[in-house]
Amino acid sequence: MTGSIQCGTIIDDPYNAAVRILLTNDDGILAPGLAAMWRELRSLGEVEVVAPESVQSAVAHSITIHYPIMTRRVHVGGEFHGFSVEGSPADCVKLAVHDLLDCKPDLVVSGINAGENIGTHVLYSGTVAAAAEGALQGCAAVAVSLEYSDELDFDLAARHAMTVIRSILHQGIEAGDLVNVNIPALRPGWPRGVRVTAQSMSPLEESFERRADPQGRPYYWLSGKLTEEVDAAFDTDLRAMRDGYIAVTPIRINLTDRARLTHMRSWSWPEIGAQGH
Ligand code: MN
Repeated sequence: MTGSIQCGTIIDDPYNAAVRILLTNDDGILAPGLAAMWRELRSLGEVEVVAPESVQSAVAHSITIHYPIMTRRVHVGGEFHGFSVEGSPADCVKLAVHDLLDCKPDLVVSGINAGENIGTHVLYSGTVAAAAEGALQGCAAVAVSLEYSDELDFDLAARHAMTVIRSILHQGIEAGDLVNVNIPALRPGWPRGVRVTAQSMSPLEESFERRADPQGRPYYWLSGKLTEEVDAAFDTDLRAMRDGYIAVTPIRINLTDRARLTHMRSWSWPEIGAQGH
């Protein structure tokens, strides 16, 4: 670890019990995926939980600026204490780092989300946004999601996630790095392994279903799924998940298109600004 870690913890040793971890999610502090992840992360270090009071799925990286952010100290399931926050996942991480925690965490873990966050879904995901906020705050950050299925075994998923997280910590993650981990549905024989992947750009197949409320007024319900990739993009998160592999995707927050930036600098641009003074 470098630079901005204030408490001086070394987290490249996966067995260092002093790792300070912030655990959050977007499914809310009562979500079973968060509790399962907490039970596993305990073996890695000191875990603080700061998570939304209510379900915040698909709020992406939104933050609360026009309303007060209420917090409450809670004891969940007789297992862990934490802060519930009436706000977004990004609010939780900001608040935790700036105020609620004594010390900036070394590692922010977001999840385990009920449902995969791959491809373009990453843009809408509160789970990934919470981890991204952790990275922006100068922590190493990992988002963990489990593909949706009829019965979500978060305990088993958390054990797989923990194996992957230990591996990531052991092999090198730095402050500000963000990794998106997706676990395929836990059918027999899956996961078949780990693939390091790129984010798929497979288009969404979207539609709005129009329904009528009891008064006959129309309302809409969005449904969407990622289309199967037909091209040779076999290194993507989508492909890995469909093949039964855990997808580990390094994500960067800087949205600059470097190739086009170079190209656009070669264009001619009008001279704008105070002239002749
Ligand atoms: Mn969610």
